[in-house]
Amino acid sequence: MTDTIDKPPSTHFYFDERCFWHGGGNYAQMLPVGGLVQPMVAGGLPEAPETKRRLRNLIDVTGLSAELHLSSTAAVTKQDLLRVHPEAYINEFKQLSDSGGGELGLRTPFGPGGFEIASLSAGLVKQAVASVLEGSAKNAYALSRPPGHHCLPDFPNGFCLLANIPIAIEAARAAQLVNRVAVVDWDVHHGNGTEAIYYDDPDCLSISIHQERCYPQDSGGIEKTGSIKAPGANMNIPLPPGSGHASYLEAMERLVVAKLREFKPELVIVACGFDAASTDPLARMMCSSVTFKEMSAMLMAETDGKIVMAHEGGYSEAYVPFCGHKVLEQMSGSALDIDDPMLERIIGQQPNERLQAFVSSEISSLVGYYSLE
Ligand code: ZN
Repeated sequence: MTDTIDKPPSTHFYFDERCFWHGGGNYAQMLPVGGLVQPMVAGGLPEAPETKRRLRNLIDVTGLSAELHLSSTAAVTKQDLLRVHPEAYINEFKQLSDSGGGELGLRTPFGPGGFEIASLSAGLVKQAVASVLEGSAKNAYALSRPPGHHCLPDFPNGFCLLANIPIAIEAARAAQLVNRVAVVDWDVHHGNGTEAIYYDDPDCLSISIHQERCYPQDSGGIEKTGSIKAPGANMNIPLPPGSGHASYLEAMERLVVAKLREFKPELVIVACGFDAASTDPLARMMCSSVTFKEMSAMLMAETDGKIVMAHEGGYSEAYVPFCGHKVLEQMSGSALDIDDPMLERIIGQQPNERLQAFVSSEISSLVGYYSLE
């Protein structure tokens, strides 16, 4: 007899306070930020810690955290990084991080210790993927920061310093936990990093649903369907600004779910940004927390609940926590159904029938283009 009770696998929630300390570098009074010294102020970029820290706090306030398995984990290793990033980039990032921080790409400043924090952020995603594949978790959420979906192997951009999801996938593949994977990216910006990394890989389906020509402005087009080595392994779903709840659910059902049924992945990982919410300052879409909850439910119905969420963008400090909470309610099967204080307003602001019909016709065109009828 043991004093531990076997519990069924639950929803794992991976986070680490140090991920909230990532920033462009500054001082905490006389102390240079880094190591054990927490930054005193957020940097000037919209990618700031409070969106994520407030989600972490909200699940405590509502009691949801008691229904989840919360923990941190180890940073990824250099071996993990080398499966996705060239050694020259890893070394350059580490050296600049050790010497006080700086910037290597486009809109990706980091402070002292930024390399270690980014490696920890990728570690959260790696552990989330492993815990689901090994069966210790029913599903898992990684509160990763900095985010990852824009990062190219040798060029960080869009606040992303390491390709968190590909690093996690390749670690799981190296451990022979999985081979065939799908990434569903509903961050409002195009998942250009994931697309680039898996463009030649017929066993990794990369789907990005995003606001057309938002970021990066010159990527995310429908002509990018995978290389000759991997035809059909990449699918972009650009939607016009103003698309809302109904359009997102329609695109999910007719394009994303249809494509997943065709591809039959062993695991679905969501690049889970919340910047398609109507409150977001960096995009012009009209989703609510319920949109994200219902999209989670649609994917879980296809995967027997086995799913990994890797947190990406989302810049509305007050609203991101409610979006994340609703996703976690769905993942865990919690009886909690908290009030979203913005929901009524967002429902009232949904696009009119004319715009919805236009977006629906665009989706119908994509269904034909991708031969998913
Ligand atoms: Zn984004």
